[in-house]
Formats: sequence, C-alpha cells, structure tokens
Amino acid sequence: MPVKCSRCREADSEIYIKYLRQYLCLNCFNSFFESRVKKTVEKYRMLSKGDYVGVGLSGGKDSAALMTVLKKLYPDKRYVAIHLHHGIDEYSEDSYFKAKELAESLDIEFHVFKYGDELGITIPDIKKTRYGRKICSTCGFIRRWALAKAARELGVDILATGHNLDDTLEVMMSSFIAGDYESIYRLRPVLPPFPPNNYWKVKPLINTPEYEVLLYVSFNRIPVKSLNCPFGDDARSMRRKEVLRFWEDREPMIKFQLFSSFTKKLIPLLDRVYGGESGEVKVCKLCGGPTLSDICSTCRRIEYVKNKVRVKS
Ligand SMILES: [Zn+2]
Ligand SMILES: [Zn+2]
Repeated sequence: MPVKCSRCREADSEIYIKYLRQYLCLNCFNSFFESRVKKTVEKYRMLSKGDYVGVGLSGGKDSAALMTVLKKLYPDKRYVAIHLHHGIDEYSEDSYFKAKELAESLDIEFHVFKYGDELGITIPDIKKTRYGRKICSTCGFIRRWALAKAARELGVDILATGHNLDDTLEVMMSSFIAGDYESIYRLRPVLPPFPPNNYWKVKPLINTPEYEVLLYVSFNRIPVKSLNCPFGDDARSMRRKEVLRFWEDREPMIKFQLFSSFTKKLIPLLDRVYGGESGEVKVCKLCGGPTLSDICSTCRRIEYVKNKVRVKS
C-alpha cells in the first residue's frame, strides 16, 4: 500500500522530502513549494519595488517554474518574459518554443532578444575564437549583459531570475575558493538598482533546492526545453553541485544552514566592505550599461568576436 501524505493524510504520497521527514502528495507538494516562494518574496519585499516585472525565461526548468509560480501567486502584476535566443541551432529553437509556449499559456508578454540581430554574433561564433575554450563562462557574461540590456530597454521595475538554492551555493563555494568575496556579495536575494540599470534584481527561488524545482516542473507538466546545450554543461559547476548533494545526503539540512548563515551572518559583514557608494560609474557608449571606462568589458568582448568572425568570412 502506498504511504499516505503526511500533510493532508488523504491522498497517496508521491515524494519523500528528507529534510522535512515527510511524504507528500502532489497537491501538498505544490502548496509547500509555492508557499516557500511566497515567504521568500515577502520576507525580502521582492515585488514591492514596482508593478512591471521582467522574468528571464530561458526555456529551462528554473525560470519556467519561477514564471509559473509568480503568475499564480501574484496575478495582478504586469509581467514580461525576456527570452535570450543564443543562436545555437536546434537547441536554441527548442528553448525558444518552450519558453514561448509557457508565456502564451500564462498570457504573459513574450520578448525575444536575439543574439544574431542584437549583437551581430551568436554563441557558435564565439566558439571559433580565443573565448571558445571558456565558452560557458563567456556565454554567462553575455547572458547577464543581454538580460540587463533588455530589462533596461523594456523599462521594467524589477528583474526576476530563476537562480535556485543549489546554483547559489555552488557559486558561493567557487567564489570562496577563488577568494572572490565581491561575487559572493552579489549573490544576495535582492540587488538594488545600479545606475544606469534602474531596476531591482530579485531571486525568488534562492532558497528552493534544485531537485524540487525539477519535481515542480514535471508534476505540473510545465513546458521546458528537452535538449542539452551542445557546447556542454559547465563541468566544474556540475561537479561542485554533486559534492553538495553528497553532503546533503549525510546532513539533510546543510544547504539551508549554509544559506541561512550566508544571509544572516555573511551579508552584513560583506556589507561593510562592499556596501558603500561605488565610485563613479559611467554609461557604456555601445550598450548603455554601467561601466568604469567608455566601453564595458562585455561590449569589448563582443566587438572582438565580431572582428574575428568578419576576418574569417
Ligand atoms: Zn497531501
Ligand atoms: Zn557595453
């Protein structure tokens, strides 16, 4: 006989959540998942900064879950789904169609930022240059830059992204190993507007374990991409997430403990070092984003790739 749900005690359970020591049915899992997002949004006042909310919608599980939950919990906000089209053959087409399908089913405005049109290059072009060996990290720089540019152009008040608990802890560990504390500081749940980016950045899934995002998406049949990036997943980050899972296996609360000491203890400490006014920030002449010189480092990389591609063709 299947075990009954520990919460409603009526339905058959579908999943065991180890750190809760509870068996949950689909309905109870959904309410558990959604109420944690709600608590996070409210605790950090994530959506109180305005009414126009941009959501980075990649076609992947995290942003798909985020978009679905936000619309369900806060249907009165005005949303725009921002999709970055990387130009990676079928992979990008698959991601694009899944993102579009979800945005349409939720009746949300769908904005596509196509690298080929907006940058004049695609991710496969980068592969052919000296950045090709570090394609995942270069792709990451461009992704953040493109999302910021699209959010600026759309004039959103808030930009929500789907970073989950495992993502956050993995970057935290990596940055800690590299001694890059400023990057750890940027992992906070809410980042205030940084001129000329006049929107707040928020991460409503920041304390939701990755595995539960996966369950939420599959239980609720939310459309997500089915192909993997042909340039490969970031192997180092996968390895470090595996270490986290191994650790969690022995100590089921470890991820929440790390997150809690990060937000309660480490952030206030880092605030003293990085929290002050950040010197003079200029506006990049090419993209309009924040920079310390005339042209931002991402635009310089993009220009470099463009020149290389032009020389070859
Ligand atoms: Zn139940
Ligand atoms: Zn720029």
